[in-house]
Amino acid sequence: MKCRTCGSKAVVNMRQHKLALCKEHYLEWLPQQVDRFIKKYQMFSKEDRILVAVSGGKDSLALWDILHGLGYNADGIYINLGIGTIGGYSDLSLQKVKKFSEERNLGLRVFSVIEEFNESIIDISGRTKRGMNRTCSVCGLTKRHVLNKVTRDDQYDVLVTGHNLDDEAATLFGNTLHWAGEFLLRQGPVLEANGGLVRKAKPLCRFYEKEMAAYAILKNIDYIYEECPYSTGSTSIYYKQQLNILEHHNPGEKLRFYVHFLKAKKDGLFSPLKSIQQSLHECPECGQPTSSPDLCSFCRLMSRK
Ligand code: SF4
Ligand code: ZN
Ligand code: ZN
Repeated sequence: MKCRTCGSKAVVNMRQHKLALCKEHYLEWLPQQVDRFIKKYQMFSKEDRILVAVSGGKDSLALWDILHGLGYNADGIYINLGIGTIGGYSDLSLQKVKKFSEERNLGLRVFSVIEEFNESIIDISGRTKRGMNRTCSVCGLTKRHVLNKVTRDDQYDVLVTGHNLDDEAATLFGNTLHWAGEFLLRQGPVLEANGGLVRKAKPLCRFYEKEMAAYAILKNIDYIYEECPYSTGSTSIYYKQQLNILEHHNPGEKLRFYVHFLKAKKDGLFSPLKSIQQSLHECPECGQPTSSPDLCSFCRLMSRK
């Protein structure tokens, strides 16, 4: 297989794009494409202050690397969830993130769940009676709460995350299976700020997980290979496996599923049934926006004994 640009040996073959590239041209192509979609979906500009949520994994570190390389003003935030033993998952991912930011001289904020709430994410999840995936749902709720707060308090213009196409297609698959109207309405490359909820963008939403892995490896980014120990058996992994079967038989299927959804939404297939904004108010405990009648879901969780 030869590189389409220079004819030398290709190291990446993207069947979905009918495109093969050598290392040099792949490392040039991917950031250009990311920038193309940042502009297409009007995610942010060079004047904006951007906060990137980094986990230490390939997607978020590759995203931060790409934004930095393209000249965007992007700081990182790492949330230490306190998962695993000393030297375990959270410690190791924090080390990777710190090393990455120090080598490139990038601004990094570290938020420690244990220091802030005196409990690890596992202890917090013990407060709920939710079933199998309770650690992940509590973890997701906590991360959303912290990220919104830090982005607001430190006056960043936008919060960006490293969700790739495989993540987005799996979420879309789940939302479609359950016809989760409100979630479908809110899913997309950009979520506008809304009554105290910050603006969010996902610059990697059109890039396959394997494209991001290839970028991180070819760029020698030192990321954490291990998955979080709580990720096994999650529904999103199951959805990803199902989508991989479709993709295997029909290259490009995942991308079409996602892009056709965005088009259908733009064409008005899903019209807002009610204004989410109208129903938001400030949580009396933490001041963040919530649609619950009283405390926000996070403060409700923390008030349980
Ligand atoms: Fe949190 Fe679950 Fe992700 Fe682990 S797998 S980081 S517990 S959401
Ligand atoms: Zn080439
Ligand atoms: Zn609250």
